[in-house]
Order: sequence, then C-alpha cells, then structure tokens
Amino acid sequence: KSKEIVSLFNSEFNKQKISDKVSAHITGCFGFCEKGPIVKVFPDDVFYVEVKPSDVEEIIKEHILGGKVVERLLYKDPDTKEIIRTQHGMNFYKKQERVALRNCGLINPEKIDEYIAYDGYVALGKALTEMTPQQVVDVIKDSGLRGRGGAGFPTGSKWGITLRSPGAEKYMVCNADEGDPGAFMDRSILEGDPHSVLEALMIGGYAIGANKGYIYIRAEYPLAISRLRIAIKQAEDYGLLGKDIFGTGFNFDIEIKLGAGAFVCGEETALIHSIEGKRGEPTTKPPFPAESGLWGKPTCVNNVETLANVPAIMNNGAKWFADFGTKLSKGTKVFALAGKVNNVGLVEVPMGTTLREIIYEIGGGIKGGYKFKAVQTGGPSGGCITEHDLDTPIDYESLSAIGSMMGSGGMIVMDEHNCMVDIAKFYLDFTVDESCGKCTACRIGNKRLLEILEKITQGKGEPSDLVKLRELSETIKDTSLCALGQTAPNPILSTLKYFEAEYNAHVYDKR
Ligand code: SF4
Repeated sequence: KSKEIVSLFNSEFNKQKISDKVSAHITGCFGFCEKGPIVKVFPDDVFYVEVKPSDVEEIIKEHILGGKVVERLLYKDPDTKEIIRTQHGMNFYKKQERVALRNCGLINPEKIDEYIAYDGYVALGKALTEMTPQQVVDVIKDSGLRGRGGAGFPTGSKWGITLRSPGAEKYMVCNADEGDPGAFMDRSILEGDPHSVLEALMIGGYAIGANKGYIYIRAEYPLAISRLRIAIKQAEDYGLLGKDIFGTGFNFDIEIKLGAGAFVCGEETALIHSIEGKRGEPTTKPPFPAESGLWGKPTCVNNVETLANVPAIMNNGAKWFADFGTKLSKGTKVFALAGKVNNVGLVEVPMGTTLREIIYEIGGGIKGGYKFKAVQTGGPSGGCITEHDLDTPIDYESLSAIGSMMGSGGMIVMDEHNCMVDIAKFYLDFTVDESCGKCTACRIGNKRLLEILEKITQGKGEPSDLVKLRELSETIKDTSLCALGQTAPNPILSTLKYFEAEYNAHVYDKR
C-alpha cells in the first residue's frame, strides 16, 4: 500500500505541475505499525495516519495546495479525544528517544545522499583521519554501549580484545540473523537505515584492524537484503567502501552472506561456521571469536542494533550516549512491542524506562480494555513478567533479577484471555524446532518437555508431570552446550513460578 500511495502522490504532483516543488518518498519504518501507512508532510511536520490510496487527492488538494491540514487523517488520542497534528505530540513518541532508529522514517534508505545529509559517514571520516584505532575503541568503551543482540557484552571491550588479538587478518561481522518470534528491530534498521550499519562496520574494522566485513542476514528478509545491496553499491561508487577510503590508505570490503533460516545461527560460533560454509552448529567457548573466529582469525561479531548506535556515538560523543540509561545499562533499546497492546509497533526508549511506561503510555494499554496478565521479554529465551514487576526499570540486570532477560528486544504482551501454559508450549515448540541437535540435553530433553506440556494442555497431565517439568528444565539448563538450550526452559520455569495455578488447573481440574 505504501508504494501505491507514494506513486499516486508523485503522479498527482506531475498532473498538477508541481513536481519541481514537492515530491513523495518512501522511508523506513516510523515504528507506529498500528497506524500505518503513515504520511509525514515536511516542513509542516504534519503526521497523517492510516492513509489510504483514496486519501491522496484530498491531502494534495486541501493541504499541499490549499494549506489546510486534513483533520480526519490526524491521530486522535483515544483517551482525551484530542486531535494531534505532529509525531512528537503523540504519547506513542513522547517517551521515546530514537538513536538506533534515528533515520528510520526520516530518510529514503535507497539514497546515500540523504544519509550523508544527516551526518552520514562523518563519523567514519573522523575515525580514519583524526583518531587511532585505540581512541575509537576508547570512545565506544566510554559510551557504555553493550551488545543489543541479547548477551549485553560491552562492545568497546569486545573491540579492544579483537584489536589486541595478534594476526594480520581480522574480520568484522554483523549479525543480522534476527529470529526471535515477534522481533523485527534489526530488520527495520536495515530496511530504514542500511548505511548506518555499513558505516559502523567500517569504523569497527578500522578499530580492530580488519579490512573485511560480513553481514550475515537471514534470507527471509528480502527488502533488507536488497537495500543493503543498494547501499553497498552506492558506498563503493562514492569511494566510501573499497580501497584507500578518504585517501587514508584504509581498505575495507563488505560481503553479504545469506542465512538459511536456522535460529541457532544467531549464536556467534554457529554463525561463523555457517559463513565458512560448514553446518551451523555452535562450539564451546573459549576460544572466543575475538581470538579465533572466522577461519581461525580474530573476529568481532556485533548485532545490527549495536552497530547502528556506533556512528551516533562517534558524532555526539561517549558522554552524550552514556547520559541515557542507567548505571550499568547505557543508551537506548529498541523493542518490538506486540501482542494484546493497543499500539503495536517498534519503540526505542532510554534504558531505565519501566515496562509500565512502555505498555501503558507508549503502547496505549491493553487492547479491548482487558486486564493485563503478563509480558514476555527476551523471546524464547526469556521469561514472563507479571503486574507485580511492571515498575521495574528496563536494563540488563533488572530484567535478569526478575527471571526474564533483555534478549534482542521482543516484547509480547498477554491479557487475561491468554493461557500461560499454552504460551510456554508455544515457545518450547519453537526451540524444539530450532535445536541444532548437537547435544542430547537440548535435542531430547526439550522434546520431552514439549511432550509433557502437550499432555497437560490436552487435559491428560498427572501431578508428577509438574515435578518432571521442573527437574528436566533444570537439567537442560545446566547441561546444554549453547544459549539456545540453556535458556529454552525459561518460559516454562517462569510461568510455573508465576502461574502455577494455571498448570494446576489443567492437571487437577480435568473433567
Ligand atoms: Fe544445538 Fe541445542 Fe546443543 Fe545449542 S544447546 S548446540 S542448539 S543442541
């Protein structure tokens, strides 16, 4: 629909003979998925929501030619009934701080000139011409940026270790193998602002001493792949990628590698094997990729969102970034807010924002006015969080302390109609499907857990099944090789902890 709307605008501008003064462009995602397609009019800063192709003529006649805003297409606050004209006047955006998503919804992702117009490639120029690799590492370290893919390892430390690892050949890898159910943060960044990731890969390459970067992206993201390919070609044509960048003697190439859809390839050692053309299976660490990664060479693997922050940090300074967030979790985090919430979408908030603020202020509360039951963060590796903990500030440590995790940013809200045993079964079904099968605990153990859950939800469960669920979950956590297996039982353990009554109802109240 968006493409159709853009082309209708442009053909109407042609007809009206005003195409030299005004034009319509496609941008990346504004984040407010619930209200798309969105048309934003510059420089008036007017934000139209749920625009249909049939609305185009009216917007042009009334607004563009007549100077009068089309009120019926503006956002109406469901509580106050106030009509809101601008993006930043809406509750959905008021508490957001867009750093990783700064250019999404602002620039045309297929035009390098637009990225450059918003300080694109300035950070790369600064790094290459004014800074040593160690100084770049120090800025990222001082900013407090931690890996946004889930583990939260300090990015500057990872870069520093790779820089210090001996070897003439090193690699930068962007992990774009986003696979959590309900997660689309990385996809949106790549579709909306691919140059930010390329620029960050090059800055990282300079910092660690690599001349080659890989972007490992799942083949199910065709638009992101196509925009990355366009961006790489444009950067090469502008002399920003390839040999002797900015005349500094620094060379850097980027290659795209397509993943075949295995969730486990998001784990960095499995991802590395997959790029090498081997079966995508994790291996034990150490050695860590920073010491021995791709083809045994020092390799730095960073997730898309982590990288998208890098040019902004380099341009604005470490302190600017570190001023967002909490003591140990600096900056912002993007979440894919989904499930039974009014404003489904992509949100970016400073670390330390509470779950209640995200769900009720940004998300507009629970759909249909029903009662909130739980929110799952961290995808299939995470856990559910109940009303009791809704005022927890979101950061790596606080989410772990209440039995969930940050993960890559999936946030699925459940209401009073959701059965929590079903939710646990849904996530386990996913991990059983995605287990690579290398170790017994994960391959067989999770299958047994799923069978028990199926038995329980079919009303055939026994009291002893609840004991088995707990014991087996702990064994799988302790004995699996990689994070997929180690965290797979989390949705069961957290629903058992907070919603044991629902399990009991399935087991004891059978009719
Ligand atoms: Fe494979 Fe699961 Fe073992 Fe990880 S824990 S290596 S996914 S079998």
